[in-house]
Amino acid sequence: MNNRLYGNLIFELSKPGRRGYSLPKNEYKHKLGELPAHLLRAKDAELPECDEMTVVRHYTNLSHNNFGVNDGFYPLGSCTMKYNPVINEELAALKEFAGKHPLQPADTCQTLLFIYHDLQKQLCALTGLSEFTLNPCAGAHGELTGLMVIRAYHQSRGDDKRTKVLIPDSAHGTNPASAAVCGLEVVEVKSDPDGLVSLEHLEELVKEQGESIAAMMMTNPNTLGIFEKNIPEIAKLVHDCGGLMYYDGANLNPMLGYCRPGDMGFDVMHINLHKTFSTPHGGGGPGSGPVGVREGLECFLPTPRVVYDEETNEYSVETGDYEQSLGSIGSFFGNFNVMVKAYCYILSLGKENIRMVGPLATLNATYIKESLKDDYLLPIGGLNKHEFVFDGLKDKSTGVTTMDVAKRLLDYGYHAPTIYFPLLFHESLMIEPTENESKETLDGFIEVMHQIAQEARENPELVKTAPHLTPIGRVDDVLAAKHPVVTFRQMQQEL
Ligand SMILES: *Cc1c(COP(=O)(O)O)cnc(C)c1O
Repeated sequence: MNNRLYGNLIFELSKPGRRGYSLPKNEYKHKLGELPAHLLRAKDAELPECDEMTVVRHYTNLSHNNFGVNDGFYPLGSCTMKYNPVINEELAALKEFAGKHPLQPADTCQTLLFIYHDLQKQLCALTGLSEFTLNPCAGAHGELTGLMVIRAYHQSRGDDKRTKVLIPDSAHGTNPASAAVCGLEVVEVKSDPDGLVSLEHLEELVKEQGESIAAMMMTNPNTLGIFEKNIPEIAKLVHDCGGLMYYDGANLNPMLGYCRPGDMGFDVMHINLHKTFSTPHGGGGPGSGPVGVREGLECFLPTPRVVYDEETNEYSVETGDYEQSLGSIGSFFGNFNVMVKAYCYILSLGKENIRMVGPLATLNATYIKESLKDDYLLPIGGLNKHEFVFDGLKDKSTGVTTMDVAKRLLDYGYHAPTIYFPLLFHESLMIEPTENESKETLDGFIEVMHQIAQEARENPELVKTAPHLTPIGRVDDVLAAKHPVVTFRQMQQEL
């Protein structure tokens, strides 16, 4: 690639008078005089002027600077995209789905309402909960909706002193954020040395503050990829003090078909369809964060709801008559195309194959962990599920950090894992390969990680100054965050 030419901004490639198109003569030009003068431009818009091939190559080359799951291995951790079959994209894009309007009469979109309704039932079966709403548009939106359900439940019992939410220190950042947005106070629960919720600390908190606890938010396996084996005790402690258990099911893949939040004592949960159930995410959407509740909490779920009438065999959309409902929490029904993909995913895997997801995700993660633990520090041993965390390189004498390793991986064509999260360790490097990678792909990654460890020992400068082969080298994160230069004009001025 000729970086000098095509890596520039399109404005820098501009040559006055250069044209890349030919359009018919503007028939309406004479009518410009009829427009009010204050609406007319005083001078021509400043647009780049380039020939056709320069424009096409410019944008094509820019697109090559992207990296996605279709480009290479993407072992992120926590927010990893799982399996996203392309066929589901094609099905969701069918005009029979994508061409529908949310306000059209229910009798003209019975198939869509059937899918909506049936997906809710499938999610109930997978999670052991009683009812789902598909309305929330993201994981965090689901958390907020779920917490609002919990608050509505306490208030319906006249118990309005419950304003606190227990959240483990390993939790995803959206958990405390959602609690705060919901007007609740966050109480942090410590982890024990095994990376599990500290029962001792939880007992203490429940004893001291039990009457003000609305809920405990958790995920299992937790963000370290470890199964919280004390979950029955934890749920009992929280329930006994009058609180509810909230399950963060953003990443449900290690559990699918084996183990259900409803059976573990959770009362309310959300799922990220755009992680576990076949919608690629990134760049802000579209997402879907369905919320499920156990029996007895259905009345608080938001509207609109899709209702099936057995007698007429018809589906309808209902908004009224739900006195205790939260009401609307967004526009219409949420992101329907994400639901179509999730529905296709669940049905095409089927009951048998869906049970393979968790074991394969666990096997892949364990294979990488065991293969690399001589070079990378494993702060918590024992069994992991779909993901695990290293605490940087084992040999700390080289001064090579997790950031350096992550940057060096880019030179080898891999997306970097999640770094410096969870906050429990100084040099967290969190890896989730997902269930759908081949052994050869995993071996390639393992080899490169060993290679980087060797470079760190033999030539640490090489790793500390990486990346060397990307269009832009190491950026100064602090400067970029504190003093972002985001426009061409500003850049010209700076130079
Ligand atoms: C991704 C994620 C969330 C938040 O989901 P969004 O759709 O990004 O709002 C919450 N919890 C966990 C564990 C996650 O991985």
